Amino acid sequence: MMAVDYPTAKSTIMEEAMKKIKVTKTTKSRLSEVDFNNLVFGKKYADHMLVADFDGKEWKNAEILPFQHLSVSPSNAAWHYGQAIFEGIKAYQDQEGNPMIFRPYDNYARFNISAERMGMPDMPEWLFIGGMAMLIDLDRGWVPGNTGCSLYLRPFMIAADEFIGVRPSDTYKFMIINSPSGPYFNKPIHLLVQDKYIRAFPGGVGYAKAAGNYGGAMYPTMQARKQGYDQILWVDGQEHKYLQECGTMNVFVVIGNRAYTPDLTNGTILAGVTRISVMEILNDMGLEVIEGPISIDDVVKAYKDGTLREVFGTGTASSVAYVEHLDYKDHQIRLDTTKYDVGAEVINRLDAIRTGKTADDKGWNFKI
Ligand SMILES: *Cc1c(COP(=O)(O)O)cnc(C)c1O
Repeated sequence: MMAVDYPTAKSTIMEEAMKKIKVTKTTKSRLSEVDFNNLVFGKKYADHMLVADFDGKEWKNAEILPFQHLSVSPSNAAWHYGQAIFEGIKAYQDQEGNPMIFRPYDNYARFNISAERMGMPDMPEWLFIGGMAMLIDLDRGWVPGNTGCSLYLRPFMIAADEFIGVRPSDTYKFMIINSPSGPYFNKPIHLLVQDKYIRAFPGGVGYAKAAGNYGGAMYPTMQARKQGYDQILWVDGQEHKYLQECGTMNVFVVIGNRAYTPDLTNGTILAGVTRISVMEILNDMGLEVIEGPISIDDVVKAYKDGTLREVFGTGTASSVAYVEHLDYKDHQIRLDTTKYDVGAEVINRLDAIRTGKTADDKGWNFKI
């Protein structure tokens, strides 16, 4: 049986999950095929996956089974109208080599916020958290232990009706697949402040981790890549000047002894779990953290007067990504990322917590 030592609330969830989720183990693990020293993001998948169906009333057929293809009708509603949401979470090894999931309850809460915005059903805790914990327990060998590496967990939900009329689906599928991953951006990034294309508007779906947000960003990002940038730093759609976020990362700007990050009030920015973690860490480090509107003009001004110290992105996939170039119209901001002592300290503290090197005073790790 499983060597699980959860706090009471968590063990209750595991017990419920174990009663409700059928497990079929693989007879042939693919673990030995993985080169943990050369992990490429999102290419290889762990031995098992979780699948469950929503039948219009409740979640059922919850099952953990060997990773495999699905058989899906061409009329599947998700393919046509994009009722699809996802999450990104990471599991790390602690100092004893046991898996820990970083802040999964925060992602669970956000998943339900995304589901509501997209007219999709609420996810029960036993399925999302309990199912994920069972899956990691079973595939614990897939959680990398080397520096900067982790098991990337991808829970997602899609519409499942076989119907091409435009309406919310009655049925849905929930799945979790897991991919061992190395460092996502291992070099500093170059960003273009985009003021032609817009990612999200107030009243839209920017705050949901909904598939369509990414589909809509592909073309502008492709254009930016052709010009040599890694990502776009999105600004608001009304005044084209207030920073939102970039790619799948929230953004931080360090000016003097203050760290600024855009506030979430108008619903155009994804509320990153890394974002709130980094805000707390910056605060612990003695910086003043300011959540509020930041205009690109303020960033340019700080650069010109020499007070702009660092710009970095934060996200589960990339952790903390240093921004080296930031271009906006004819302004070219060039930063020396070898001097990023704030960003470096944030990464150190975050890594130390996620891998159990320092005490988890904040209760961020879900131990398996
Ligand atoms: C996932 C995501 C982030 C980062 O969120 P984390 O919870 O820190 O991974 C930021 N912006 C967008 C658009 C995202 O999809």
